Amino acid sequence: MLVNNLNRYFLQNLMFLSKRLQSTQVSSNHYDIIVAGGGMVGTTLACTLGKNPKFADKKILLLESSKKSQWRLPETYSNRVSALNAATVDLLKDIDAWKHISGARFGPVKRMQVWDASSEAAITFENDGFEEPVAYIVENDLLLDAVRNELQNVNTVEVVYQAKVESCRPPREGEDEVNLGLENGTSYTCDLLLGCDGANSLVRKEMDFHHIACNYNQMGIVATLKLPEDSPNVVAWQRHLPDGGFLALLPLTQGFSSMVWSMNAKEAKRVASLSEDAFVDAINDALWKVQPRSGFVDQATQTFDNLIRFFNLPSTSMTQCPPKVLGCDIKSRAMFPLGIGHATNYVSKGVALVGDAAHRVHPLAGQGVNLGFGDVICLNKVLAEAVYAGSTLGNLQYLKNYETERQRFNVPMILVVHGLVQLYSTQFTPVVILRSLGLQATNALTPLKKFLMSQAAGLRSQQA
Ligand SMILES: Cc1cc2nc3c(=O)[nH]c(=O)nc-3n(C[C@H](O)[C@H](O)[C@H](O)COP(=O)(O)OP(=O)(O)OC[C@H]3O[C@@H](n4cnc5c(N)ncnc54)[C@H](O)[C@@H]3O)c2cc1C
Repeated sequence: MLVNNLNRYFLQNLMFLSKRLQSTQVSSNHYDIIVAGGGMVGTTLACTLGKNPKFADKKILLLESSKKSQWRLPETYSNRVSALNAATVDLLKDIDAWKHISGARFGPVKRMQVWDASSEAAITFENDGFEEPVAYIVENDLLLDAVRNELQNVNTVEVVYQAKVESCRPPREGEDEVNLGLENGTSYTCDLLLGCDGANSLVRKEMDFHHIACNYNQMGIVATLKLPEDSPNVVAWQRHLPDGGFLALLPLTQGFSSMVWSMNAKEAKRVASLSEDAFVDAINDALWKVQPRSGFVDQATQTFDNLIRFFNLPSTSMTQCPPKVLGCDIKSRAMFPLGIGHATNYVSKGVALVGDAAHRVHPLAGQGVNLGFGDVICLNKVLAEAVYAGSTLGNLQYLKNYETERQRFNVPMILVVHGLVQLYSTQFTPVVILRSLGLQATNALTPLKKFLMSQAAGLRSQQA
C-alpha cells in the first residue's frame, strides 16, 4: 500500500514536471511578433518596431532563410540598387540607419529626365532650385547592412538566420496564436505574423490570401556602367524604347551609374551574353540611336509644343543630353524577371503581408521597395494605436486599418505603373501620339507634375 502511494506520488510529480517543462518550452518559442523574411523590408520592419517605445515589452523574432554573411562595403558598386524616395529616407533616418548609408555612399538624383524614343516628347523632374534630391540611389546590400547594424542595438528583437519558414497556420476558432514551422523542425507561436518573404511569399500561400499576378515576359538587365568623369553625375536618365522596354541610368557617383534595361526575355538573354564592347555599343544605341518615327507623331508633338510655347509654359524638348557610356564591369551584369502581383487582402486575424509579399510592381517607376517601406511606416503606426488602446496585436480591426490605408495608396500606384508598361509596349501611331501628348502636357502643367512628384516621394506629409 505504502509502495503504491509512493509510486503514485512520484508519477504525479513526474507528470507535473513534464508538463512544466513542456509549457516552458512552448512559451520560450512564443513571440509577440514574428517577422518572416529578412530582406530590406522585413529587416527594416523588425528594426522600426523594435525601436518604437510602444513595443518595449514585446518580444520580436526575425526569421531569414539565407545565411548570415559578413558584409563589408566593396570597392566596386553592387549591381542591385534602389531609387529611394524622400519618405523612405525619412524612415531610415528615424531608425538611425541612414547615417550608415550617408557615411558610406549614395547617389543623389537632382534631376530625372524621361523621354520617348518614338517621338520628341520628354519630361523632367527636379525640385525647386536643385537643393533637395528627387531620389537617392542606394545599393540594396548597403541598405540592408545599415539596418542590420542598427538592429544589433535593439534587444527586444532576436534574429535567426538559415530559418526557412516551411508552414504556418492561422489562429483556430477561439484561439489567438499563429503557429509557424521551420524547415529544420523548429516550431513557434506568435500573436502576430508579418509576412515579408518577398514576391513568392510562403506566408501568403499558406494563409490562403487571394493573389493576382502576371509576368511581363520581360527581363531587367542590371549592370554598373562607366561614364565620363568630366562633370558631376546627378541626373537619372530613362528612355522608353520602341520594343516596349526602357533603359535607365541611375547616378552612383562621378563616372559611374547603375543601369536597368528592360526588354523581352529572349532578347535579354542574347544582349546579356554579348562581349563587353558589343554590350556597351548596344547600351549607347539604346540611349542615343534615332529611331524611325511616324510623320503624324512628329506633326502632332510639334503642333502641341508650339501651343505650349504660345502659352509660355515649359516646353517639352530635351534640356540636356545623356552621357555616353564608356564601359561596363562584365561581372556586374545580371538579369531579373519582371512581373506584377497584388494580394486582394493584406491581412487576416493575426497575420499581415508587407512589401513584395503583398505587392510587386515593374521597376519602370522605381517604386517597388518604396511601397514596401510605406507599408512599414503605416503598420508601425497602426500597431502602436492597437497597443495604446489595449488591444491584442493580431486584432483584425486594427490590421484592416493598415490594409485599407495601404491599398488606397498602393493600388493606384500599381495600376498607373502597369498602365505605363502597357502604354509604352506598342508602336500603334494613335497610341504613340496619345502618350507623347500626355507626356508633353504633364511636363507643361507644373501643378500636375508636382502632384505626381509628391506621390512618387511617398506622400511624405501624410505619413509623417
Ligand atoms: C531590376 C529591378 C530593379 C528595381 N529597382 C527598384 C528601385 O529603383 N526602387 C524601388 O523602390 N524598387 C525597385 N525594385 C523592387 C525592389 O527590389 C523590391 O520591391 C524589393 O527588393 C522587395 O523587398 P522585400 O524585402 O519585400 O522582398 P525580398 O527582397 O524578396 O526579400 C524577401 C526576404 O525573405 C526571405 N525569405 C523568402 N522566403 C522565406 C521563407 N520561407 N522563410 C524565411 N525567409 C524567407 C528571402 O531570403 C529574402 O531575404 C527593383 C526590382 C528589380 C527586379
